[in-house]
Amino acid sequence: MNYQQYFPLDVVNGPGTRCTLFVSGCEHQCRGCYNQSTWNPCSGHEFDRDMVAQIISDLKDTRVKRRGLSLSGGDPLFPANVPAILALVQLVKRECPDKDIWLWSGYLLEELSAEQSQVLDYIDVLVDGKFEQQLADPSLQFRGSSNQVIHHLKQ
Ligand code: SF4
Repeated sequence: MNYQQYFPLDVVNGPGTRCTLFVSGCEHQCRGCYNQSTWNPCSGHEFDRDMVAQIISDLKDTRVKRRGLSLSGGDPLFPANVPAILALVQLVKRECPDKDIWLWSGYLLEELSAEQSQVLDYIDVLVDGKFEQQLADPSLQFRGSSNQVIHHLKQ
């Protein structure tokens, strides 16, 4: 898996202060996508062991407490990304059990494959659905268009 950007301190993508990873790879081609540079799974940088270690270290940082990890893109559930994302969320829940994980995907919850669905066991919130330009609403919190649904999986 490749990633586009990593923000060790982020207060925009999800609730509270977070670490946010934007992965590469997306096949949805939403009209009006503001992240087209992420579509190519080969773009960006290799998501290597050092990056994983950096995320765990940042989540454990006691100087600036993070509430959790946000995974966006691109699409973290782009099929080729799933093995790396699954390994990441499993590690985060093992190493940092008090942190929540939010994940944004263009796939709908009900259409996830068996492989993609494995990730759901380790995340707290899935925001699903493609970005629909005609339903775009800048007043929405944590989603770009009103068709997208915030699923609180652990409630
Ligand atoms: S799912 Fe996100 S990254 Fe992919 S095309 Fe749609 S808006 Fe862009």
